[in-house]
Amino acid sequence: MTDSASSTASAADPLRGVLGARVLLPGDAGFDEARQAWNTAIDQRPAAVAVPRSTEEVSEVVRAASQAGLRIAVQATGHAAEALAGRSLDDVLLINLRDLTGVGIDEKARRARVAGGTSWREVVEAAAAHGLTALHGSAGDVSAVGYSLQGGLSFYARRHGLAINAVRAIEVVLPDGSVRRASAEEDPELWWALRGGVDLLGVVTAVELDLLPYPDVFAGMLLWDAGHATAVATAWRDWAATAPDAATTSLRVMHFPPLPELPPFLAGRSIVVIDGAILGDDEDAARVLAPLRALGPEIDTFTRIPASALLEIHMDPPVPTPNVSAHSILGSLPDAAVLRFVGAASRESGLMFAELRQLGGAIATAPEGSGAIGAVAGEFALFTVAMTPTPDAVLAGREAVAGPVRALEEWTIDARLLNFCEGSEGRKLALGEATGRLASIAHQVDPGGRMLNRAASS
Ligand SMILES: Cc1cc2nc3c(=O)[nH]c(=O)nc-3n(C[C@H](O)[C@H](O)[C@H](O)COP(=O)(O)OP(=O)(O)OC[C@H]3O[C@@H](n4cnc5c(N)ncnc54)[C@H](O)[C@@H]3O)c2cc1C
Repeated sequence: MTDSASSTASAADPLRGVLGARVLLPGDAGFDEARQAWNTAIDQRPAAVAVPRSTEEVSEVVRAASQAGLRIAVQATGHAAEALAGRSLDDVLLINLRDLTGVGIDEKARRARVAGGTSWREVVEAAAAHGLTALHGSAGDVSAVGYSLQGGLSFYARRHGLAINAVRAIEVVLPDGSVRRASAEEDPELWWALRGGVDLLGVVTAVELDLLPYPDVFAGMLLWDAGHATAVATAWRDWAATAPDAATTSLRVMHFPPLPELPPFLAGRSIVVIDGAILGDDEDAARVLAPLRALGPEIDTFTRIPASALLEIHMDPPVPTPNVSAHSILGSLPDAAVLRFVGAASRESGLMFAELRQLGGAIATAPEGSGAIGAVAGEFALFTVAMTPTPDAVLAGREAVAGPVRALEEWTIDARLLNFCEGSEGRKLALGEATGRLASIAHQVDPGGRMLNRAASS
């Protein structure tokens, strides 16, 4: 990849020299690498990129951006970079938190302090050394902070709720460069607003979050040929209706190209997969799983594994990947909806996968003292992904991911998981009644509207 050519005069010129070589402008060596998101389909071209290593450096560069009249976008990994697709970033400083990482574990308090750009893998491995784990998502390379402050749906969620409710304190650099700490005891308005409205409010440089006392977990996947998708999805839907909150699972119809680097059980195949975790001892977990095992999967990897190995079971892409996605939430999944789901997720759909995640249990109840997001309603989250290896593939990819969402519209409710939303419409549904109060807090914190966020469309 070559670095973009330098323009003659840029809105970001006043930032030259701030943080030394850690602020990069077009034409600088390393600019293209620093502007690259995990979702490689997104060609984001900001006026400058900052790669700070400390809270002080974040504060310094945010102040400099303010003086230069630049807006600010924040990314830890760029997993959700699709939110910036097609937007002009000519007056935007992208703050890339890839070097602001680190984890401290307080074993006795069962708590972690996690720097703003740290990946879940780093947190989970640090916690595992103390026999603990966290409410992480399916992929180890997603950031703990970005995921947690926008909901966070883990394979422990039906018992332990959304990850956002495990956050106990937040350190943030506001758009004026000031550093604040918010928690149940400090700055109640900001504390409420940051848990759901972080993209309106500033750059989070660290969070403290509660850990779970699980050194290991009963987890894995069951796999069938996609020819069994209707039978498996129907049985899973029936099973989910009475499954205890100890179980949190996902069902996906997945399509793989015939690539030699893929294992034979995936290469060139279409499959249906159920995966997830079941809390409790082996005997109880096996009893809960029995009706799904009775469907005769071709592969069954469910067993007790170290808690850190839960990051591997979902087969998320191990490297940055160009993709588009879509999402909705279903209030129910009757037989007709199962048929529509399976039909819309066929190999001809152009999808990489269509997924249903089990909701309910503790996911549906906001605990006392929760923030702008505390719970999500609905029975199942629908999530669709298509690969877009070239810019030409994006239009068809968008059409493909919208297919199942459209097909299941009849059963869709006005709720969304913010983490799976890329656009302003989904964001509005995810925040619901919190939208107005958030906007008013954001106006106080950022009167100039300098935080680039998904509430605005340009
Ligand atoms: C392969 C894959 C697997 C996933 N699995 C799950 C899952 O199991 N459960 C689930 O709930 N979600 C899952 N997601 C969705 C994921 O949680 C979101 O994409 C999330 O926003 C990613 O956070 P990030 O910080 O890594 O991404 P980024 O794109 O870097 O950040 C997303 C947004 O978060 C904000 N942000 C991030 N860090 C900071 C910070 N330090 N300060 C201020 N703002 C910040 C910014 O507004 C940014 O635009 C998955 C996504 C992918 C691509």
